[in-house]
Amino acid sequence: MEKYKNFINNSWVDSESKETIKVEDPATAKYIGEIACAKKTEVDLAVNAAKESFNSRILIDMPLLERAKLMHKIADETRKVAQEGGKMLCYENGKTLAAAIKEFNDVADMFDYYAGLTDKLEGKTIPVSHNVFDYTVLEPFGVSAHIVPWNYPLAMVGRSLACSFATGNSTVIKTAELTPLSATIFAKALQKAEVPKGLINIICGYGNEAGSYLVSHPDVNHVVFTGSVATGKKILHACADKAIPAIVELGGKSAGIVYPDADLNDVVESARHAIFGVAGQICTAMSRLVVHKSIKNELLDKLVNLSKSLKVGAGYEEGTELTPLISSNQLDKVEGYARSGIQQGAEAVHGGKRIEREGYFMEATVLNNVKQDMTVAREEIFGPVLSILEYQDNEEAISIANDTDYGLGGGVFTKDLNKAAWTASKLQSGQVYVNKWFTGSHATPFGGYKQSGYSREKGIQALNAYLQIKNVGISLS
Ligand code: NAD
Repeated sequence: MEKYKNFINNSWVDSESKETIKVEDPATAKYIGEIACAKKTEVDLAVNAAKESFNSRILIDMPLLERAKLMHKIADETRKVAQEGGKMLCYENGKTLAAAIKEFNDVADMFDYYAGLTDKLEGKTIPVSHNVFDYTVLEPFGVSAHIVPWNYPLAMVGRSLACSFATGNSTVIKTAELTPLSATIFAKALQKAEVPKGLINIICGYGNEAGSYLVSHPDVNHVVFTGSVATGKKILHACADKAIPAIVELGGKSAGIVYPDADLNDVVESARHAIFGVAGQICTAMSRLVVHKSIKNELLDKLVNLSKSLKVGAGYEEGTELTPLISSNQLDKVEGYARSGIQQGAEAVHGGKRIEREGYFMEATVLNNVKQDMTVAREEIFGPVLSILEYQDNEEAISIANDTDYGLGGGVFTKDLNKAAWTASKLQSGQVYVNKWFTGSHATPFGGYKQSGYSREKGIQALNAYLQIKNVGISLS
């Protein structure tokens, strides 16, 4: 089994403890590699490397066009490893090869996009009085620690790292213990791009060990966390104890409203990608559909046909559509949710249980007659389980969709754009998709309402959260 290491100060570093984390292919449950497990020693090394690079001011003093060119170089080198890295990502995460390669290319796009903004972040002059010249300067925080989840192991690295780098911070990334290998290939691209030492460090260790130590490290000045609400709250507490800022991007329980005039084929295509794609392990998964009574049966027939038609298999097999869940635990959890829904009165019109084959596959599951108080309607399942809730009038549809502690995504399916805009204005979520789930890009702000977190990644304004404002007043008298 091939062994991978942590990327610290541009070197490949083993764990002093010699402990490793073994990584599985979720399609076969067989090990595909292992990585040196970062502990306190390696976290210290990575943070020190980042701190030294920050204190050296190498990125801060670099002319901004040079910084932008370096970011374009990172983008180019990332594209060059997209096939190799995508294959690794596909094997460790389970998603399709095409989606995994796209993830690498998306990271490259992030770097290109933010490269173009490095020299457009401007301060202000502020009128104070005739004998004071007052201006603001935007400055990085210092060492920024990024903790990422396993469902989009590279994309989550790319979106925060590109902002962190563009604004002059030095970064330590802790990858998820289930999917740490693809980031080592990204690290090779960073080496090829000749990123100066210590500016970007990538380590992997367990969340409750390396992760919590990293966040509470005295030399970490800024935290970016993407993951579950439960962990996000712990991170926020740790950051509050140190009075440092945290960007938090958390889970979701997103609902799409299907009005009677909707094109039901749009709904089905969205279901294909947004609840059955990546086996439903998507923060903005379309996990609930709030459907008008008059069209519910027709939509259910179409969703059952879709579920039956999905080709099940490993992500690296040609034509696969329904890929495995990430782990045995995740499969137990998702199957448990489906079972609880059925026990509480929902009807599984398709699926409802695991698929008996090697690996961690769950049937594409459509639950009808779901009620708002059922666990499947309230908790993030993170699997291919779609809950159908019925409504009769528009206000009721909005109230069902908003009846959740989360607020990441929301959707509406209708041919009437006035109704779509009215619905979008009422939905309590950070993004609203009209007639097609996932309409956004690297340029559109992404984040949550309510417990899904309050930050925004992607787009121009994301950069603000990586910068602090210094005000300078010069007495002219
Ligand atoms: P998780 O919270 O269990 O883990 C996320 C990361 O946090 C991992 O790297 C883990 O090692 C680390 N971690 C765990 N405990 C920690 C601690 N005490 N201190 C510091 N770090 C710790 O989440 P997960 O299961 O890996 O990911 C799935 C969750 O992520 C879902 O809820 C999903 O909705 C969410 N997510 C959100 C977004 C978004 O942009 N809003 C994107 C992707 C995933």
